This record gives sequence, C-alpha cells and structure tokens, in this order.
Amino acid sequence: MIDKRPALIARCEGALDVVNSINFARDNSLLVSVRGGGHSISGKSVCDGGLMIDMSKMNSVRVNQRASTARADGGCLEGHIDREASLFGMATTGGIVSHTGAAGLTLGGGFGRLCRKFSMACDNLISADIVTADGTFRHVSGDEYADLLWALKGGGGNFGVVTALEYQLHQQDPMVVAGDLVFGWDDARNVLAYYAEFGNQMPDELNMNLTILTTNDNERRIAIEAVWAGKPQDADKVLADLRRAGKLLVDSVKPVQYTQFQTRHDNSNRHGVRQYMKSSMVNDFSEALVDEIIGLYRPDPMSKFFFMQAGGAVARVAPTDTAFPHRSAHCNMMRWNAWFEKETMQQRADRIADVRADWAIVESYTHGFYVNLNDDNEKKTLANYGPNYKRLVAAKNKYDPTNLLRLNANIKPTV
Ligand SMILES: Cc1cc2nc3c(=O)[nH]c(=O)nc-3n(C[C@H](O)[C@H](O)[C@H](O)COP(=O)(O)OP(=O)(O)OC[C@H]3O[C@@H](n4cnc5c(N)ncnc54)[C@H](O)[C@@H]3O)c2cc1C
Repeated sequence: MIDKRPALIARCEGALDVVNSINFARDNSLLVSVRGGGHSISGKSVCDGGLMIDMSKMNSVRVNQRASTARADGGCLEGHIDREASLFGMATTGGIVSHTGAAGLTLGGGFGRLCRKFSMACDNLISADIVTADGTFRHVSGDEYADLLWALKGGGGNFGVVTALEYQLHQQDPMVVAGDLVFGWDDARNVLAYYAEFGNQMPDELNMNLTILTTNDNERRIAIEAVWAGKPQDADKVLADLRRAGKLLVDSVKPVQYTQFQTRHDNSNRHGVRQYMKSSMVNDFSEALVDEIIGLYRPDPMSKFFFMQAGGAVARVAPTDTAFPHRSAHCNMMRWNAWFEKETMQQRADRIADVRADWAIVESYTHGFYVNLNDDNEKKTLANYGPNYKRLVAAKNKYDPTNLLRLNANIKPTV
C-alpha cells in the first residue's frame, strides 16, 4: 500500500552519520523520515522526495550481565535484543514479531508477551542516545535531559533520531509454557466473555492475546495465545478455567523456548504482506462490545479481530509517569483485513471499506489509541496524550522547534 520514493536514503553506520544526515536535511529544507524496522503501518518511515534516515545497519546489542541491562543500537530489531538477552537467562519486553524495530516500538510504548510481567518496552528504557533536530548528540537518562527521556517513553519519533537505547533486563527462564487454545464459533461468546472478565485478573506472568479468525475451510474460530512466563509447574493450574471456557479444538500449549516463540508470526507478517487495520484501546471490555464483535465477524480467512492484552505491570505505572498514558487499557483491539497482490483495486477497496464499516461500530467502545498503530489521526493526537500533551509540546518546542521530525504521531511545536 505504501509506495513512496525518497530523493536520498542515508544508510547510517554510526551516530556521526546520523548527525550529518540531520544537519544536511535541515540545511536543505528536506522532509525527513526515519526508518528502523520498517513496520510503520501508515508508511511514515519512508517519504516522497525527502531524506530517509535508514538505521537498519546499526543493529548491535551488548548485554551488561552484571547490571542486567542491554544497550541496543537504534536500528535493532526486537529479535536482536531477545536473542542476546537470552544468552544470559534474561529478557525484557519486546514485540510479538521479531522483525519489528525496537526503537519504533519502544518510543511509542511497546506491548509484548512479557509486558504484564515486566511492563511495556518504554518502561524498561533506562537511557538513550539521540541526535536532536539541531544536530546535537545527547545522552539522555534520569539524570541528564530527564524531560527528554520522559518524552521518549511514548512520544514516538518526535524529538530526534535515537542512535542507541539502554534497556532494563530481567531474569527470565529461556523456556516458557506457551501455545494456542482454539475454540469453535459456538463457544465464541463464552470465551470472549471469559477473556473480558477474567483476563486481567490473571497473574502477571500470563499473557493472553486473543484472535478471532477464519480457517481456510471457512470455519470461524476464537483462539487465545497463552504465554506463561512463570514457574512451569504452575501453568496448568493457571490455565484450568480458561481451558473449560468452551470445547477446545486445539491445545498446543507446551514448554517452548521464548526466543523461538517470539518468531512464530514472523512469516505471516513478512514484509510485503498487504494489510489494512484499525486499532484502539479498550478499557472496559463490556458485554455490549462482546455482542457487537460476535455479531460483526463474518467468515473470511483474510479477516481478523485481534486483542493484545495489557494490565498487570502496565497498569501499575501512573499515566503521567511516562508519555504513554493508556495505563487503564484492558487490551489493544485491532480489526484488520489482508489481501493478496493479485487482488484487483476494487477488491482491495472493498477490504478497506469492510474494516472501516466494522470500526465505525466498535470505535465507540474504545478509549484513545496506540500511536504506534494509528499515527494519522492528527486531530485526535492531543486528546490521546491527555494529561501528557502539554509536557510533550514543551519537549517538542525545546528539541525540535521547527518540526523537522514530523512523520510520526505529530506533536506540533508552538514556538
Ligand atoms: C507486523 C507488526 C507487528 C507489530 N507488533 C507489535 C507488538 O507486538 N507490540 C507493539 O507495541 N507494537 C507492534 N507493532 C507496531 C510497531 O510498534 C510500530 O509499527 C513501530 O513504529 C515499528 O517500529 P519500526 O522501527 O519497525 O518501524 P519503522 O517503520 O522503521 O519506523 C516507524 C516510526 O518509528 C520512529 N522510529 C523508528 N526508528 C527510530 C529511531 N531510531 N529514532 C527515532 N525514531 C524512530 C519513526 O517515527 C518512524 O516513522 C507491530 C507492527 C507490525 C507491522
């Protein structure tokens, strides 16, 4: 869907390349886009006619075992961090597709299979190196430029190009107990109601992402991906009630290597897959929303509802402690359609219209959106950041007063 042509692509190999790129773009009034893993749903990491700063060659990770931290270059993918941390029996929250860029994901928030246990990726960001719009390299931490570190934890790519991120790591058994619990459509209401009511009462070590999908033989299913990152012997006890929420058609939950599980959706989300999606936070997963979803979902193997769970440690951070404000979210709800390259323009338009029509119905049950998935909604960005918007504008005024970095969920400078 995204077909833009930058005039120049700077394939940076270090912070100095980034400084030179930023200075060159500013001095020549070029539009700038910043590319990490290239997962921007709305295509913001590429631009027409401007300078694309490509960070993908900067991808090394170094773990400090003694301090339980990892320093990741600004172009690292999630998988780079997962793998290096696992060498030392540690982990931090990363996304559910291993080729997502760590910087893009973390700067907007960062949900993942460990976020209920270790909180969001942004909450684990201890310090960062950044080149701000004036071309200055800065190391930001709790002691230096603390206002900027706060803004990076949810404020997206608004403030500069991040050349390195330092994460808190945590002890984590490399083996987790994980897999899918798949139920038939007859049980959809019960399973969804169970997820809505009890999902966030589960221990923090359990993460449940729920998908409503259609099999290739056109049967609707409701699938919960369960990841238990606690003591393996406790998994069955924790999952017992969920397993009884309906008739199980598939139960693939078993001990598995965490880093391997983190790649399970890599291929279905490979670069080039055509998708259109809408997403927003659900705070109150009401019975009415369950009814709407059950009523709306028509059998179609290329169509899905997806719910990425929050709660647990995510909810114990105050909305103003970081720029990411959505701490009361039960989950992040997504509705999407995919299609093949061979589909006609009309079929593609129909698939997009289909998502929009469903979204028009369920959107009223949501409370704000995730800027990493929905960055085109400039009008609503202010309200979305709620109590944090004023502080974000202050940081934008200080570090990017001319809005050089504007291909993002844009915080408009006021100076
Ligand atoms: C298949 C898929 C799976 C996903 N899974 C998850 C998930 O599990 N959890 C979750 O929370 N989100 C998830 N997301 C959303 C994801 O967090 C955002 O799309 C994120 O922006 C991706 O970052 P990126 O570096 O890969 O993307 P890019 O397209 O490279 O960059 C997106 C934006 O991030 C900013 N950016 C990237 N790198 C830098 C940098 N070094 N310095 C400054 N700004 C930078 C820029 O503003 C850029 O426009 C997923 C998206 C996709 C497509």
